[in-house]
Amino acid sequence: PSSLIAMLAAHATRTPDAEALVELGGDRLTYQHLWNRAARVAGGLRAGGLRRGDRVALRYPAGVDWVVAFWGILFAGGVVVAVNTRSTRPEVEFLLEDSGATVDLAPDVALPDGDAYVDESATLHDVAALFYTSGTTGRPKGVPTTHEAFLTNTANVARCFAIPDDIGAAMRTLICVPLFHVTGCNSQLLVAAFYGGTAVIMPTLDVDALITAIADEQITFMVTVPAIYALMLRRPALAALDTARIGWVAYGGAPIAPTLVQALKTAFPAARVANGYGMTESASLMTVLPHEDAVDHADSVGYAVPSVELGVLPFDDADDRFGELVVRGSNITSGYWQRPDATAATIIDGWLHTGDVVRVDDAGRIHIVDRTKDIINRGGENVSSIEVEAALMAVPGVLEAAVIAVPDDVLGEKVGAVVYSGGDPIDVDQIIGAVAAQIADFKVPQYVSVIDEPLPRNPGGKIVKGRIRDSVSWGAP
Ligand code: ATP
Ligand code: MG
Repeated sequence: PSSLIAMLAAHATRTPDAEALVELGGDRLTYQHLWNRAARVAGGLRAGGLRRGDRVALRYPAGVDWVVAFWGILFAGGVVVAVNTRSTRPEVEFLLEDSGATVDLAPDVALPDGDAYVDESATLHDVAALFYTSGTTGRPKGVPTTHEAFLTNTANVARCFAIPDDIGAAMRTLICVPLFHVTGCNSQLLVAAFYGGTAVIMPTLDVDALITAIADEQITFMVTVPAIYALMLRRPALAALDTARIGWVAYGGAPIAPTLVQALKTAFPAARVANGYGMTESASLMTVLPHEDAVDHADSVGYAVPSVELGVLPFDDADDRFGELVVRGSNITSGYWQRPDATAATIIDGWLHTGDVVRVDDAGRIHIVDRTKDIINRGGENVSSIEVEAALMAVPGVLEAAVIAVPDDVLGEKVGAVVYSGGDPIDVDQIIGAVAAQIADFKVPQYVSVIDEPLPRNPGGKIVKGRIRDSVSWGAP
């Protein structure tokens, strides 16, 4: 298709009565209904003065209205500003100001309504939406996402997950991750729209309802984070579920344990399971670990998707397969929204620096080691904070753990761990002993601080290490 709008138009014309959207506990819309309702939203926005390229903040909760508004903004020639619905008031104000949105579709604002209007002139290089990064390493940054980036990601999903057209048209994808991030919007909602399938949206996450919905809504395609799958697998109801229809079970966003992958394969025997790695800047996927590798190489995120070229900037001459991952391709943004400094620091000679440290194995698979900002250099040895956190989390009594660098006059940096035990007493020496049994001695934390409150996280659930660095005080090593 020549744009997202052309993609939707094809289904509204050819299969108008096919089900496009289901909101669990809410409305159901066919492609014809979706098209008509979105066109009326566009008419309302135009009547309100919206012009091509104007930004519209989209703050509805996940559901049919969100999707209708998404298409309505595009039909009006506007740019969707996808706002995290868990944002605080100051965060919303920042996003409204930063994006320059002239319309704010807040939760209590009725959908604009007017005479049907569809501007079909959008081209591949027009910006369709601004997504914001999660703000794990700093302030969230707006990422202009073109029609081409959206459509490229859709094609990548189709190829990497090997979804034939006829199966795709019958796709029923269950969306329980946010629509305001690229995974839910680009790799689920718009993939269903690409095939003319059905997007089933869960407005608020409920693990029991998720299992019921898989059966009731005859779901064929699932994506969520490892933690949700772990919760699902603990429910007896899952064992009783008929999973024959589930053809794809995908996960990403965080590392997954091999035992969890094996349990998923057992629970969903008809499914291809796949790990996906991406970032807001890549309109979702950059790499996919194929089904065949899922268990044996569970700690890998696999290989580049078709549209993406990967490179590694080695940290030193000793190992050219270990360093920062850089990427380029037609789904990669060409710069941040009104952030020339961040753009210049991130996109260099056409390559986007991901800020992720990777290791490439002999088969060419990518392994995420850490963030460049988080990796610890202890006297020349690189220590992955993610690896040490995994070792800490395996210690009984440790509920949460974050590992950060502690400045050191001699070694440059030492390894510091912040541990949360839910308020129960926990012995630091015992923690260190248990970690030392799992990982090499140079990785074992020299400092451990037990805190009384859960770790600070951003709305995406990721630990904000900057805040820990500012607040933690270390005892004697
Ligand atoms: P900010 O850029 O504002 O600091 P962020 O990088 O967390 O925030 P996102 O774009 O939402 O914002 O997240 C992308 C990051 O998530 C990647 O750079 C990577 O560190 C991590 N990530 C994504 N998928 C995976 C995965 N499958 N395995 C491990 N890490 C992943
Ligand atoms: Mg980032």
